[in-house]
Amino acid sequence: MAGGELIIDLDALKANYRALAEASRPAKAAGVVKANAYGLGSDVVVPALVSEGCTDFFVAMPEEGLAVRRLAPDARIFVLAGLFSDDVARLYAESDLTPVLNSLEDIAVWSAFCATAGEKRPCALHVDTGMTRLGLTVAEALAFAEDANRRDALNITLVMSHLACADELDHPMNQRQLESFQRVRQAFPHIDSSLANSAGVFLGSDFHQSLTRPGIGLYTGLPDDAAPQKPVVTLKARVVQVRAASSGEGVSYGSAVLVRDSILAVASVGYADGYLRAGSGTGVPLREVEAAGGGGFLHGRHVPVVGRITMDLTIFDVTDLGADRVQVKDQIELIGPNMPIESVARAAGTIPYEILTSLGARYHRRIVGGA
Ligand SMILES: *Cc1c(COP(=O)(O)O)cnc(C)c1O
Repeated sequence: MAGGELIIDLDALKANYRALAEASRPAKAAGVVKANAYGLGSDVVVPALVSEGCTDFFVAMPEEGLAVRRLAPDARIFVLAGLFSDDVARLYAESDLTPVLNSLEDIAVWSAFCATAGEKRPCALHVDTGMTRLGLTVAEALAFAEDANRRDALNITLVMSHLACADELDHPMNQRQLESFQRVRQAFPHIDSSLANSAGVFLGSDFHQSLTRPGIGLYTGLPDDAAPQKPVVTLKARVVQVRAASSGEGVSYGSAVLVRDSILAVASVGYADGYLRAGSGTGVPLREVEAAGGGGFLHGRHVPVVGRITMDLTIFDVTDLGADRVQVKDQIELIGPNMPIESVARAAGTIPYEILTSLGARYHRRIVGGA
């Protein structure tokens, strides 16, 4: 018996993929499924995307690539982490994973591996245009493009870069990165190119290149979408106890003092489930800068978290629902149609990406749709 229920709606996921693929046209849309498909489970997400015609996947780590290969035998699978060692190169070759080469060292290792294997296996080249994280510098990439010997040792099937500020439509970085990337791309003619993450898809068609790389948009829907849609993720916590408490009594660790006679619902989800402690009602540092903490939705009303979220339990103020309205076994919606993940994230001082990738292992996971 789980304390929380995590519902994944595959129809909503597929609708989001279709919308992102449509917005990317004529470019193709890949599916970014790193970190176990942002915590939703690549076991269900990858087959759903394949059924929508998705043929390209990105993962972060080699092991994630192996998992996706088992689920998508015919797909192109890019591993963003690139190369660590010869062992990994062999594993990539065996499972037909495409490494994203992030440095001149990566290039040297993969070239040597291909030479030894006697086969120029596909690879992607990552160029840093402003993120300053992974990738060759633009100068390194341009020099490499002109070096026929080194270049001919590789079979580069994709040239890519990553945007640092795509979620800010008017940020000057976007145009600067696009211009740098166009220079690189011209140095590698007839090779597919990729620049846009989810937010980048909405920066305009110049950013689409030949392949877009949406991740978060698959799981949370499109930004500013006028048509309200079903969320992919719904999370519910089970009420395990309802209690009355008087004004002046203290609640949870640190004893947050109640300012009125209250009815409290204790629900069996806590920070060990990824229900972040920073979303506590009071008693955590974030509450000194961001007044409102997290909350849930129950019987048509918003019910705030009271006091600190604990490891396995969270206390909600259900006073405004009236006496006897809330019962043990009721389910409080923590994320879902009435609790958009953006506001859940804001209350915990974070972003939807972190909320999703923190989702714990104790939830009862229920898959709906997808047929
Ligand atoms: C995670 C990631 C993406 C997907 O980004 P979203 O903002 O989730 O769409 C795309 N490209 C790279 C290199 C990434 O690391």
